[in-house]
Amino acid sequence: MAELEGLEFGKSDFVLLDEVSMEQFMENLKLRFEKGRIYTYIGEVVVSVNPYRQMDMYGKDSIEAYRGRELYENPPHLYAVSDAAYKAMKRRAKDTCIVISGESGAGKTEASKYIMQYIAAITNPSQRAEVESVKNVLLKSNCVLEAFGNAKTNRNDNSSRFGKYMDINFNFNGDPTGGHINNYLLEKSRVVQQQEGERNFHSFYQLLRGSSDEILESLHLQNDPALYACTKEGATSNNDRSSHRAVMNALQVIGFSKEEINSIYQILASILLLGNVQFESDGESVQILQLEAVNHISDLTATDPESISKSLLYRTVATGGGEVIEKGHTEQDVSVFIFKSFGRINSVIEVKNYNPVLHGKNTVIGVLDIYGFEIFDNNSFEQFCINYCNEKLQQLFIELILRQEQDEYQREGITWQEIDYFNNQIIVDLVEQPHKGIISILDEACLTAGKVTDMVCLDSMDTKLAQHPHYTSRKLCPTDKTMDFKKHFRIRHYAGDVTYSVEGFLDKNKDLLFQDFKRLMYNRFSSSPFLKEMWPDGQLSITEVTKRPLTAATLFKNSIVALVDKLACKEPYYVRCIKPNEMKSPVLFDDARCQHQVAYLGLLENVMVRRAGFAYRQPYARFLQRYKMTCEYTWPNHLMASDREAVEAIITQHGFQDDVAYGQTKLFVRTPRSLFTLEQERAALI
Ligand code: ADP
Ligand code: MG
Repeated sequence: MAELEGLEFGKSDFVLLDEVSMEQFMENLKLRFEKGRIYTYIGEVVVSVNPYRQMDMYGKDSIEAYRGRELYENPPHLYAVSDAAYKAMKRRAKDTCIVISGESGAGKTEASKYIMQYIAAITNPSQRAEVESVKNVLLKSNCVLEAFGNAKTNRNDNSSRFGKYMDINFNFNGDPTGGHINNYLLEKSRVVQQQEGERNFHSFYQLLRGSSDEILESLHLQNDPALYACTKEGATSNNDRSSHRAVMNALQVIGFSKEEINSIYQILASILLLGNVQFESDGESVQILQLEAVNHISDLTATDPESISKSLLYRTVATGGGEVIEKGHTEQDVSVFIFKSFGRINSVIEVKNYNPVLHGKNTVIGVLDIYGFEIFDNNSFEQFCINYCNEKLQQLFIELILRQEQDEYQREGITWQEIDYFNNQIIVDLVEQPHKGIISILDEACLTAGKVTDMVCLDSMDTKLAQHPHYTSRKLCPTDKTMDFKKHFRIRHYAGDVTYSVEGFLDKNKDLLFQDFKRLMYNRFSSSPFLKEMWPDGQLSITEVTKRPLTAATLFKNSIVALVDKLACKEPYYVRCIKPNEMKSPVLFDDARCQHQVAYLGLLENVMVRRAGFAYRQPYARFLQRYKMTCEYTWPNHLMASDREAVEAIITQHGFQDDVAYGQTKLFVRTPRSLFTLEQERAALI
């Protein structure tokens, strides 16, 4: 069993700090990181610092040590919150969720994998085959999603380019019966464009490096990523080949047929070839330079070359007229495929024929792995969406943590002092309010006929929002040197000020779908249900689709609102991830960078909220059972009128009376200090 930690490792819960100050918080965080203690609690919240090295703490022994235990009985660990969420789900039939947040490279996706691994390890002790197969799909889904949705970026070698929420369903036995995955805001533009030093999605390199010569030949490809425009950036990596095998295996486990796997790779190949197609314009008309590539694509997609060329060169718009496009199809294809693979995974793992009367209540643990706040030198539409998402999650955090606390205190008859915190509802409103909010203003501009530019839209925002306390209009601060007077606006987010450049906002919000191409593909593949489904609205007539399409921002808003609704009815657990440095170094703790993250994750406020109330609570009987040997009046059995009185005897004998309150059914403990002391005494006695 894992030993409780000694004081030389710092405080294992920030609630125990002598005073709540940034200085003490940072000192403790740094000390623990340097001592290899990457997890620290704030009550039930886990603060995690990316160790950037393999830690010896995820093995079978560790899993056993945490299984079924309470949080403070072991050193802080993801396994402890996973177990807490699992216990709540199993014992109290509560739906729970684990929300993992933090910036790119902070360790969110790794954390979500350890959580899944823990849940898989502690369930289905009798090894029932149908449960095992559900677990297999759940575990393997990661591998597929990472191949198609992750890429090397300058901040993370395996960066998820989408947000992910996964529900795992459990039966009354506490065994997984299925699940569902939702994804958010995939970075499609990566298919056609990567920053220097970054790569395209892993799957392209895996296909080129991992496939046999015959397969490559049948796909009209060569095994060198440097030959393709889509993959020439970052063409070298040593594990693409082995990953390719793992992905192929995972696709099979999930239930993709051979034909479907083939189709997937045909599409990836067409994208690679399409990426190499260049256009030449003589001023009047536009020509395709690589007709050979077009022929290959035609072969791979079973579409005649004429139609492909036509759809490449022209995009008919409902308003009439043709417009040249040089990229964009490819973005659309890959994103459609990724959505498709979510769809497929979902159709395999979705709970079918669950009868609550026969099988008991079906409960859920949700795991959310989603991008944290982003503040770059240049912030655009993507950062705007991501930061809005974080405002929504912060709102949920406030609502859930405070509401839950208040409900419980009331039920148990405990009085407590409310504390002041910043409620960010006002910023959420700034973004999403109907008619007045930024998204509405953007949408209005996108739907207006005629030429509305980013600048016209900015003008409109500046006029409508000038009075808003969290919006800075460029008109009001023309002398502010940090803002480019011409094209920026600024939002005061709960996590800090972010200046956005409005350039590209309208185009990205319109997110033009290339209808011709979609229809072409849809018609072409009418005989193959798998491929046909990839272009779901290809069947719609052009006017239906272009009349009033939902904009990217509105679609994103709708999906985030739905996500928040889903989370709001669950009991939440939080993992807050911190990235210690920019060099992926296991020994460097960059004070300024870390402090910045602690500030915008609102961790100090979190400690304050936690200290104002009672961090821990336990039913009297369970408390007694565990600690009765530490008190002469309760060992081996007490003779008092109730368990509550017996618990009072233990608390008084240890002098902890100022740290607790007595509820109807539970003991409330303000800080974990008393619990740690009791744990140590207990350990010394047994
Ligand atoms: P995020 O999802 O927050 O962008 P990742 O979870 O992908 O970040 O982590 C980035 C990298 O950091 C991983 O590829 C891995 O090398 C390292 N890392 C993260 N968490 C751990 C951990 N608990 N143990 C060891 N390495 C880790
Ligand atoms: Mg990730």
